[in-house]
Amino acid sequence: MTSVRRPPAPRVVIVGGGLAGLAAVSQLVDRGLEITLLESRPRLGGRASSFIDPATGELVDNCQHVSMACCTNLADFRARVGVADLMRRTPEIVFLDTAGRVSRFRAGILPAPFHLTGSFLKARFLSLLDKLAIARGLAALARPLASPPGETFAQWLARHGQTPRAIAFFWSPVLVSALNEQLDRMDVGHARKVFVDGFLRNREAFEPEIPTVPLGDIFGTRLERWLANNEVMVRFTTGARSIEIDGEGGLVGVTTRTGELLPADFVILATPFNRVGDLIPAALRDRIWAVEAAASLEASPITGIHLWFDRPVCPFDHVVTPGRLIQWVFNHTAIQGRSAPGADQSEYLQIVVSASYELVRLDKAAVLERVLEDLAAIWPESRSAVLLRSWVVTEHGATFAVRPGVDHDRPRQRTAIDGLFLAGDWTATGWPATMEGAVRSGYLAAEGILQDLDRPTRLIRPDLPTSWLARWLLE
Ligand SMILES: Cc1cc2nc3c(=O)[nH]c(=O)nc-3n(C[C@H](O)[C@H](O)[C@H](O)COP(=O)(O)OP(=O)(O)OC[C@H]3O[C@@H](n4cnc5c(N)ncnc54)[C@H](O)[C@@H]3O)c2cc1C
Repeated sequence: MTSVRRPPAPRVVIVGGGLAGLAAVSQLVDRGLEITLLESRPRLGGRASSFIDPATGELVDNCQHVSMACCTNLADFRARVGVADLMRRTPEIVFLDTAGRVSRFRAGILPAPFHLTGSFLKARFLSLLDKLAIARGLAALARPLASPPGETFAQWLARHGQTPRAIAFFWSPVLVSALNEQLDRMDVGHARKVFVDGFLRNREAFEPEIPTVPLGDIFGTRLERWLANNEVMVRFTTGARSIEIDGEGGLVGVTTRTGELLPADFVILATPFNRVGDLIPAALRDRIWAVEAAASLEASPITGIHLWFDRPVCPFDHVVTPGRLIQWVFNHTAIQGRSAPGADQSEYLQIVVSASYELVRLDKAAVLERVLEDLAAIWPESRSAVLLRSWVVTEHGATFAVRPGVDHDRPRQRTAIDGLFLAGDWTATGWPATMEGAVRSGYLAAEGILQDLDRPTRLIRPDLPTSWLARWLLE
C-alpha cells in the first residue's frame, strides 16, 4: 500500500490580537492553515479590552465601546466567534440638552432617509432656524461632495450656513464621538460617511449597539475559548520584533522579541500604525510604502471616566449631553446590572469625552473635578451622592486622527512583499478608526491570503440595504 503524503499546511502568523487580527483569524480557521496569533500583552482585544481593577478584582473597560447597526462586518465577526449575544441593540439615541430637556431620536414610519424626521422636528434643543440649516446641510451632504482639498468639516459647515447652535448641539455631538476628532481638524469625506451610512441610507443603521458585559468578557475570555476550540495557537506576552526576509526578498517569517524565529508562508501585521515601522527591517522600508504612510498619521485621544456613586444619579441607560465637556454618559448599572461590590444601591456610570485634547494636559484629579462639576450641572443630586470609586483613563493614541485627506496615508492590506499583509483600523478600509474598520481590515487581509492560495473568496459583508427612496435621492 502506498501512503499519500499530504502537502504541509500553509503557515500563517498574525501579529496582534486586537479586533483586526482576530477578525482575520476568524476567517482563516477551518481552511487547512496552521495559524499562530502573537499578542504582546497578556490579553486579547487590543484597544477594545478591559483591565482588572486591583482594588475590587472587577473588569473595567479601557473605555466604553459602542457600535451601530450599520457595522455589518463587526456583526458578522461577532456571530462567527459566538459573542453576538453580548451587545444589545437599542432603538433610540437620547439627547439631554443644557436646559435639562430630553429629546429622543427614534425611527418613525417614513422610509430612510426621512425615518428620523419626526424625532428631528420634535428635538427641543434646536430652534426652527437651526433645523432649517441642518436640513440644508444634510441635503448637501447627501449629494456627491465638491470640497476643496484640505477643507475641514468646520469650514464646510460655515460654507453651508450652519448656525452656531446647530454646530454645537447637532453636528459636533454626532461627529466628534463617531470620528474622535474635532470639527476644525476633521476630514469632510469621513463626516459625510457618518451621516450617509449611519443616518440616511437605512432606517436601522443609526441604532446603537452597546456591550452588556465588560469588553474583556467579549473579546477576551469568550474569544480565547473560541480560538482554543478552533485549534488556533495563541501566544500571549509574545511580542514580534521583526519580520524576516531572505536574500532574495522572500518572506521567511517573524522573529519574536526573545529571538525565536517563527517560519511563515503568510504574515499579517495587525498592530497599531505607530508600531508597524519597527517590525519592518530597515532594508525593506523603501519597498513598503505603509511605513512612510504610517509615519504621516497622527493620533487622537479619548478620555473615559468611570464613576461609582453610592446611589442612583442618572435616570437613563445612555444619554448624549450636547454643549458640555461630558459628551456621553453610559449607565452600567442599567445596561450591565453592575454596581460597586458590596453596595447594592450604588450606580456605575461611564463618561466619555472623545477628541479630549483639552483634557490630556490635565492630571487625573483635575479631569475628575471638571467632570464631576459638569455632572452636577446635569444632575444636581450627584453633589450629595458619595463617590465611592473612580478611574480616569486617557488613551492618548486612541485612534488615528481623521484629518483632511487622511485616506491618502492609509495603505492597502497587501504589501509589496509576497505573503506579507497589513491589518488594523488605520489601513485602507474607507472607515474611520472603529471596531468595524478593524474587522474589515482583518477580513481584507484574509481575502488577500485566500487569493494567493488560489481560493479567492469575498469575505467583506454587504452594507445594510439602501431604502428605495434613499437610493433615488442619494445615488
Ligand atoms: C478609548 C477608546 C474608545 C473607543 N471607542 C470606540 C467605540 O465606541 N466604537 C468603535 O467602533 N471603536 C472605538 N474605538 C476604536 C477601536 O477600539 C479600534 O478601532 C479597534 O479596536 C482597533 O483594533 P485593531 O486590531 O486595529 O488595533 P488594536 O486594538 O490596537 O490591536 C493591536 C494589537 O497588537 C498588539 N501588538 C502591538 N505590537 C505588537 C507586537 N510587536 N507583537 C505582538 N502584538 C503586538 C497590541 O497589544 C494590540 O493588542 C475606541 C478606541 C479607544 C482607544
